[in-house]
Amino acid sequence: MAQSGQIDEERLFSRQVLLADVDDTSMARLRAAEVLVVGAGGLGCPVALYLACGGVGRLRWADGDTVDLSNLPRQILFGPQSVGEPKVLAGRAALSALAPLCEVIAEAQHATPQNLPLWIEQAQVVVDCTDQFETRHLINRLCVAARKPLVIASVIQWSGQLLVVDPREASSGCYACLFDPDLGGTDAACGAFGVFSTAAGLMGLMQAHEALRLLMGLPVEAGELRLFDAKRLQTDRVTIAKDPACRVCSG
Ligand SMILES: [Zn+2]
Repeated sequence: MAQSGQIDEERLFSRQVLLADVDDTSMARLRAAEVLVVGAGGLGCPVALYLACGGVGRLRWADGDTVDLSNLPRQILFGPQSVGEPKVLAGRAALSALAPLCEVIAEAQHATPQNLPLWIEQAQVVVDCTDQFETRHLINRLCVAARKPLVIASVIQWSGQLLVVDPREASSGCYACLFDPDLGGTDAACGAFGVFSTAAGLMGLMQAHEALRLLMGLPVEAGELRLFDAKRLQTDRVTIAKDPACRVCSG
C-alpha cells in the first residue's frame, strides 16, 4: 500500500491538470492552501472529502458534535462504528486513509467568537457548513473583517442555498446584506423538518466546487444567491445587491 510519501502526485492529479484552466501552478496553490471548514454534518462531510481528495494541503475542520446514527445517510465519512465519537475525529481518521496528502486539523469544539478569528486568519478560504443562523452571521462578519472569501450553504428537506461572499470585491454583497442579523432567523433543523440525503450532498459538492475554484484562482461569481430545488434539479439565482446600510460590509 502506498504511503503518503510514496504517492506520485503528478499521476494523482493528472486528469485535473489536463484541463485548459488548470496547471501545475494552480495545483501548487491548492497544495499550499489551508481551508477552514466549519461544521461536519451533511454539508461538511462532502466538503471535507472533496477538498481533501481534490488536493487541498491543509484542512482545519471544526465541529463540537458527536456522530449520531441518524446522521449516517448524509454524513458519508462516518459509519455505525463512529456513533458517539466526535465527528471531526472520526472524519479525520476516514480522510487520512482516503487522502493522506491532506493534513487535517480536527477542532472538536463549536465555533465561537474566541476561536474563529485565528482560524479564519490562517485560512485562504472559509466554508460555512453550519446550520446555525447566529454562527453563520458571526463567520460572515469575521470573514468580511479579515477579507477572506466565504462559501456558505444551507439545506433543508429538498431545498438548498449557496452563496459565495468575497470581501476582496468591493461591489460584492455579504450574508448580512441578504438577511438582517438583527431580525433573527430560524435554524434549519434537519431533526425537525427532515432532509433528503443527496440534497445535502449536492449542496456540499457545490460548496467544495466553489472553494476549489477560489483557491485555484478560477472565476467565481460572488454575491449570487443560488436557490437549488432538488426535486426538479433546478437552480434559480438572485443577485445580492450590496446594502449601503449594511453594518458588516459597508462604511
Ligand atoms: Zn453586507
